[in-house]
Amino acid sequence: MIGIVIVSHSKQLALGVRELAAQMVQNQVPIAVAAGIEDPENPLGTDPIQVYEAIASVYSDNGVLVLMDLGSALLSAEMAIEFLPEAQQQKVYLCEAPLVEGAIAAVVAAAAGRDIHQVMAEARGALLAKATQLGVVSRPLSLVTPTTTNVESPTREIRLIVSNRLGLHARPAAQFVVTATRFQSQIFVQNLTRNTELVRGDSINQVTTLGVRQGHELVITATGADADEALAALQALFANNFGEDNVALNSPPAFHHEFTPGTRGELAGIAASPGVAIAPVVHYQPTHISITQYHVENVELEWQRLQAAIHIAKQEIQAVFSQASLQIGDAEAAIFDAQLLFLEDPVLLEAAKERIFKNHLNAEAAWQAVVDEVATSYRTLEDSYLQERVDDVVDVGQRVLRLLVGNADANLHLEEPAILVATDLSPSNTARLDPKKVLGICTTSGSATSHSAIIARTLGIPAVLGIDAQVLHLADGTLMALDGESGRAWVEPESHILDLLTAKQEAWQTAQQQAQATAHQPAITLDGRQVSVFANIGSISDVQVAVANGAEGVGLLRTEFLYLDRTSAPTEEEQLAVYQAIAQVLDNRPLIIRTLDVGGDKPLPYLRVGFPEANPFLGWRGIRFCLDHLDLFKTQLRAILRASVGHQIKIMLPMIASVTEVRAAKVILGEVQAELNQAGISFDAGMKVGIMVEVPAAVAIADQLAAEVDFFSIGTNDLSQYVMASDRTNPRVANLVDALHPAVLRMVQQTIQAAHAAGISVGLCGELAADTLATTILLGLGLDELSVNPQSIPGVKQAIARLNIVESEAIVASALQQDSAEDVRELISTSVIPPA
Ligand code: PEP
Ligand code: MG
Repeated sequence: MIGIVIVSHSKQLALGVRELAAQMVQNQVPIAVAAGIEDPENPLGTDPIQVYEAIASVYSDNGVLVLMDLGSALLSAEMAIEFLPEAQQQKVYLCEAPLVEGAIAAVVAAAAGRDIHQVMAEARGALLAKATQLGVVSRPLSLVTPTTTNVESPTREIRLIVSNRLGLHARPAAQFVVTATRFQSQIFVQNLTRNTELVRGDSINQVTTLGVRQGHELVITATGADADEALAALQALFANNFGEDNVALNSPPAFHHEFTPGTRGELAGIAASPGVAIAPVVHYQPTHISITQYHVENVELEWQRLQAAIHIAKQEIQAVFSQASLQIGDAEAAIFDAQLLFLEDPVLLEAAKERIFKNHLNAEAAWQAVVDEVATSYRTLEDSYLQERVDDVVDVGQRVLRLLVGNADANLHLEEPAILVATDLSPSNTARLDPKKVLGICTTSGSATSHSAIIARTLGIPAVLGIDAQVLHLADGTLMALDGESGRAWVEPESHILDLLTAKQEAWQTAQQQAQATAHQPAITLDGRQVSVFANIGSISDVQVAVANGAEGVGLLRTEFLYLDRTSAPTEEEQLAVYQAIAQVLDNRPLIIRTLDVGGDKPLPYLRVGFPEANPFLGWRGIRFCLDHLDLFKTQLRAILRASVGHQIKIMLPMIASVTEVRAAKVILGEVQAELNQAGISFDAGMKVGIMVEVPAAVAIADQLAAEVDFFSIGTNDLSQYVMASDRTNPRVANLVDALHPAVLRMVQQTIQAAHAAGISVGLCGELAADTLATTILLGLGLDELSVNPQSIPGVKQAIARLNIVESEAIVASALQQDSAEDVRELISTSVIPPA
């Protein structure tokens, strides 16, 4: 028999729900309660251990359904599942159904012998009866077009003639759907001119396939308590021509911007990776993913996989969207709304879900099938504009599939050297680029501290990001020149531009060679202070470049890159092999291994099923994620500890915001050490533990944290975005995420002072460390170590050797009083005497 678990903050509430539900089925169904906490002063709360015990008490292989009230009840339930053996975890389902109605519906279905999915479906649908009775919903949601209306709820209807020039094409259709979904009423719409069926107003695909053009007559119905308001709002959209300029009646939709002779030439973007590239462009278009269909047993997990992939796809499109609106104006870029709405279309999602739950199809096959159906319905319409939209549908569909499949993209392997032009490149795609073939990168999204930009610098590939979307329409083979230092690109550059850039490229190469000549010497200021220069790496090949460029150690190994492009986490042995190989190349130089920092702009679909986040950078990232995934965390710690024998390996925890997190991580580390001891496996018992200081909270309590750890490394990439409240991947706010802002510099100073007062060392591994303009500030602030991308090591060492600490301290004192990052830059440029 299926077991039911009620999780609530209040014991009384949970017992009451149990009593009510049990009565319905004469106690035939096992129902357990996990509610309240053992604190007489404050008994309201939930406890994962209690939830675990409750699940265990009603567990059978038929499955367990867990219903929760709110907030931390969900977290406790999620944690409880992790305590269960893996085989049992698959059979326990957390259900978002309403607690009281859901519990009753679930026990009745369980008592009737339904399987766990039917029980869950009953629980989820439990509010429908109440809603129908109250007239809030007049008909059950269905995948088919309704043919009848319900007399119990008010149904209102309007007819109108469409006057805007684009009709209900992508952007107006998106506005229509967004407006329709704001209301409780169910909205349906029919194109009378084309004699279509009545379709759902909350489905972008159904609305778009009505093929509504200027002059068509529509009937819109609304059923529900707010029917009048809904229709009024929709009517207003039409009356307002969806905000379009109706004057240009004969002009085509302004989505594709073609190059004209007048617009050719210089394009400005964000300087993301220095260097000059001159080469033909190749437009990167992701490979078409082909998928395999197979039978799945755990349909809930499959559905969660699909939801997670869709969520990440939406985030990716939003990033592209924010850049497009910067370049081509809000009104035109709002066309991307249609792509987002496609991924939110309830009809599409319900159809995919049905295929998973009823036909036991894998997520990829279910998704592909519904996307194909939509594309086919677009194709069959006699409307050239809609037929063009098929490409968008296929594109969005493929984006989700790529995330589900998680495989490498063959189109990134170029045959001939070229500049890669793309809307966006994920960190994992960038990491796979071959610098011998990809001479430059030019994307319409991204910013200087996004992880894709960081990797481009590590690979030494010049990059200009956030550039005008027009580049996407260049024919492959068009000559482009790109200056990653100034953030500019030229299409078919004129000869004098080519001459200038070639000269700059030569000067750049000469400067690199000069810096390289002294790269293997220690970096010592003119007044005798030695500063360690370490490397930030993500792979074995990075460490080779780092050592060749004079790295004195690795200050940051970003281990998340071991976890990308796969469908499951790397095993302990796989990780051990990589850590050992890196340590061997370092030949007893220090190696700081940062534990997994997924989240933010490095999502991993296979590890994050079912938890879409509105703000991933503020979400389940770094140490937070690891402390919630102890198996994963322990596997990594074991691999790091095992690799430490005979090497100088240190461990570093990312995204620390509280002392509790550090202590919790150290307890886990202690457990892993004890397990290794017990198994007779050797490791470096004295291994140092440090933290990234990259969250403002960590700066505020730096004195307390310093007492807990052996070293700090300041992550200015994240610290800047959190201090300045500016997403590091959003080009619109790129000017704010500048680590030279006095607000960020003061935080860096506070951290260094706390570290030194506690007698621990402090480095800086954010991208600021590689900016040689900032070197004087970093020395003046008193950092012990700078960790930079391997390509920048020679230049940074050279910069250190040309500075002196006393002058740097004076510049810092003044920098901290400036009004903006620009002012700080100006101050440095005028204070530091350039080398002869
Ligand atoms: C940082 O935040 O500055 C940092 C070095 O870490 P990451 O860029 O990997 O978030
Ligand atoms: Mg960081």
